[in-house]
Amino acid sequence: MQILKPSYAAGVDLGGTTITTVLVNETGRLLSQTKCLTEASLGVDTVVNKIVNSIKEVCGQAHIETDQLTAVGIGSPGPLSTKTGIVIDAPNLNNWVNVPLRDLVQKHFKTNVFLDNDANAAAYGEFWVGAGKGIDNLMVITLGTGIGGGMFIDGKLYRGPDDTSGEIGHIPILLNGPLCNCGNRGCLETLASATGLVNRAIHSLRFGVSSLMMDFCEKDLNKLTAKMVHEAALKGDKLAIELLRETGFYIGIAAAGIVNLLNPEMIIIFGGLSGAGEFLFAPIREEIKKRAFPTPAARVKVVPAILGNNAGAIGAAGIALMEFPPQ
Ligand SMILES: [Zn+2]
Repeated sequence: MQILKPSYAAGVDLGGTTITTVLVNETGRLLSQTKCLTEASLGVDTVVNKIVNSIKEVCGQAHIETDQLTAVGIGSPGPLSTKTGIVIDAPNLNNWVNVPLRDLVQKHFKTNVFLDNDANAAAYGEFWVGAGKGIDNLMVITLGTGIGGGMFIDGKLYRGPDDTSGEIGHIPILLNGPLCNCGNRGCLETLASATGLVNRAIHSLRFGVSSLMMDFCEKDLNKLTAKMVHEAALKGDKLAIELLRETGFYIGIAAAGIVNLLNPEMIIIFGGLSGAGEFLFAPIREEIKKRAFPTPAARVKVVPAILGNNAGAIGAAGIALMEFPPQ
């Protein structure tokens, strides 16, 4: 009987603030992990060195050599090209433009390195070993400062020819809504991201609606965060509950479109706001039921992500193993 050698992959989640790196085996089991500050302002070389050292560190923790890695995956803010491995433009990384990140890291390893965007990496983590494990058709919606996503059709990550698919945050929801970073008006991101939620909260609070949120931010609206809105909602604050419900309402409108378009089995909500529970999930489900065709609406499950902060790094490793499978 042939005994298969175990396979290892390192995954890196390169964030604007933190670099999270993990080592997993071929089934996605987490073997070791490390975190460090990105400090993108210190330059590309510094960040590349930190990535390389973090990969060496997770291998060291698990007592394996980097030569034993089957693949290395990196999830980075984009836009980027998975084909050339170049980060085209990343405002979150001290305005990187055309940085050949894949090749800069590749120089340090014999193992193949693969670069994908951070939203796809987090989505892949949930698809591979998270809430979507075993499900072939699903959409992951990432709620953070912005809104991103990743979609899986018939068990495959769908990137599109230019690596720009899954941009659910830029689905137009309000005809003349707030101006979006992309230049359009009324994109989902302007209304339902953490930033959109805080902006709507500030708008209401300026009108003098009484709320616990004013105490939480010590009456300084510049200090208000999405977490404070959630905390106020948990204490029964009517305005905060309404703001979260409205967030779910907007996401639900976009989700109803996705349900009609893709007939997914599951929609996974990922990111800080996904902890808002039923305040957020009930209106999402309600809008899907109200607006989508009955058959796909009855099938789709809307659930929170389960991997937490490691999803991006685990997913980056998973994508690398998919691109460079063990021989
Ligand atoms: Zn937009």
